[in-house]
Amino acid sequence: MLTQAPKGTHDILPDEIDKWIFVEQKFAEICRRFGYREIRLPVFEHTELFQRGVGDTTDIVQKEMYTFEDKGGRSLTLRPEGTAGVVRSYIEHGMASLPQPTKLFYNITAYRYEKMQKGRFREFHQLGVELFGAGDASADAEIISLLVLFFDSLNIKNLTLNLNSIGCPECRAAYNQKLKEFLADRIGNMCETCKERIDRNPMRILDCKDEGCRQHLKEAPVLLDHICDDCRVHFEKVTQKLQDIGIHYEIDKGIVRGLDYYNRTVFEFVSRNIGSQGTVCGGGRYDGLIETCGGAPTPGIGFAIGVERLLLEMESQGIEIPIRPGPDIYLGSIGEKAEKLCEKLAWELRSEGITCIKDIMGRSVKAQMKYADKLGARYALIIGDNEVESNKASLKDMKTGEFKDISLDTLIDRLVKIRETD
Ligand code: ATP
Ligand code: MG
Repeated sequence: MLTQAPKGTHDILPDEIDKWIFVEQKFAEICRRFGYREIRLPVFEHTELFQRGVGDTTDIVQKEMYTFEDKGGRSLTLRPEGTAGVVRSYIEHGMASLPQPTKLFYNITAYRYEKMQKGRFREFHQLGVELFGAGDASADAEIISLLVLFFDSLNIKNLTLNLNSIGCPECRAAYNQKLKEFLADRIGNMCETCKERIDRNPMRILDCKDEGCRQHLKEAPVLLDHICDDCRVHFEKVTQKLQDIGIHYEIDKGIVRGLDYYNRTVFEFVSRNIGSQGTVCGGGRYDGLIETCGGAPTPGIGFAIGVERLLLEMESQGIEIPIRPGPDIYLGSIGEKAEKLCEKLAWELRSEGITCIKDIMGRSVKAQMKYADKLGARYALIIGDNEVESNKASLKDMKTGEFKDISLDTLIDRLVKIRETD
């Protein structure tokens, strides 16, 4: 137990961190290009926020939340997703009074008590955006175009964009009635969760993963065929705009999404490579959510990318991520005087922005050179008594193996220059 991370969590080790930083920075850069600003929020919120915000008929709220009571008797929950917290913050800080729309992006860990599978964890990472105050189809198309640009910038190919409209509460009411009629003589043979949902939120049944239930749903009425005129026009505008930009999509009438708050446009980016957990990104419009959480009626739309799945997808496509180079220089020393000089040099080099690894183990010259090589240092310099006296040393180019005699006074200038031209 002591030496094992909790089930469903994973460490991101130094050897892997470069690809995480690369993806996170790319995401931030693309978001800023579209006018989004980063927001950072607490890992836990009041449980009620998720019950309301995510919706208490969802799998997340019914089965997956990490909920606990703190010492003050409050019920708190580790965030299972990002949107509810961002909405809470938008309301709490009166962001509606800022110039609209409000465009926010985030980089978070999220927590869900789920069955472990490839691409499915209990602590995982999401990159997401939320856009408040823009109800027009332009916003839907722009958010999707941001995603396409992001995946392109990572060289990810062949993700399928699946698109659907799940209408608004008004058109859903009529549809739910039809769905209930369809399910009336089938529900008896379906799972317990579906039985619970038939009265509270029959549409959720369409998202059931149980194979038996899926069989019963094959002939179910399709929501997209029952949406109202306003929702239909909105959806047609979104698809037209995507065509205008040249973004390829497929209409998937089966997407209902796992969160209660969605309306109108819902979408997913799906991979064919990484198995059953192939949904790399999910998103959609949630025009009722802000009001549900206590704010003024405000349209909203957003998405979240699962970073673990994104990295799996990149790996399966053989996409290489630039690796951080080794240190600019390794500084070794033999003897006390040399050690002192090295300390001074290392301080000066580092102050000038040069990556410098200095011996702090007092090892033999041979061991130090071996270590410099392992680190992938670009140059190495070993200083002994002679070098202290002459103020000169032999700089080893670790790429070519050549040595060059240099004056220690010029070491910093030289490395700064080499760094600029290398
Ligand atoms: P799924 O159908 O795979 O359970 P979801 O609909 O629950 O996904 P969302 O709530 O929309 O997922 O979250 C957005 C994205 O976050 C998903 O598309 C996925 O990439 C990622 N994600 C969700 N749950 C997990 C998890 N347990 N582990 C890793 N990534 C996850
Ligand atoms: Mg899920």
